[in-house]
Amino acid sequence: MNYVFTPSPVTAVPVMGSADHFPVHRIYCVGRNYEEHAKEMGFSGREAPFFFMKPADAVVVIHPGETATLPYPSLTKNLHHEVELVVAIGTGGRNIAAADAAGHIFGYAVGLDMTRRDLQNEMKKQGRPWSIGKGFDHSAPIGAITPAAAAGDIARAEISLEVGGKQRQRSTVSKLIWTIAEVIEHLSAAWELQPGDLIYTGTPEGVAAVVPGDTMTASVTGLQSIALTVR
Ligand code: MN
Repeated sequence: MNYVFTPSPVTAVPVMGSADHFPVHRIYCVGRNYEEHAKEMGFSGREAPFFFMKPADAVVVIHPGETATLPYPSLTKNLHHEVELVVAIGTGGRNIAAADAAGHIFGYAVGLDMTRRDLQNEMKKQGRPWSIGKGFDHSAPIGAITPAAAAGDIARAEISLEVGGKQRQRSTVSKLIWTIAEVIEHLSAAWELQPGDLIYTGTPEGVAAVVPGDTMTASVTGLQSIALTVR
């Protein structure tokens, strides 16, 4: 087939213990999925899970051992970090029951849902879409994907983020309001999941701003940690 210009390259994330890469289809994100983070954002109680998306090419791949560069985005004066466990879908489907969700998971990675908080808050206030606050270029850093069988007991993993060596966020995946399986059930009722979909499952409390020069390190037990310097 001839195209009128060269198509964009497929966004691909390395897979731990393999030379293979995981081709990214879509990026889904869960809002307010840890109670203490919901509280710090001014909400409380168990609400139905809700979702937003980022473009696949918002991914910034951080290879094992590398400190990547994260360009400080335009238009914001309040760029926030949100460390998140990312679920990588290997087998798609619609209306997947929570009990069957594990069979659809290829693996897991550490990710950051970078947020232009000032723009997101302004959009919230006006009842407008969050895209400008959440779906900007380079807004989805991610480390290599660890296949599920090698990831250990991910439901009980610790999740944390440091800036300049100082702890900002620390929690455990067991505190997710909606579990990974429940998230997959809800998501697949709204969209047909496809191999290559990434799900950013939500951030614990402690979100805060970074500025150029800051180095973030983010970890989930059993997965490749990631390091990025904001420039
Ligand atoms: Mn988030």
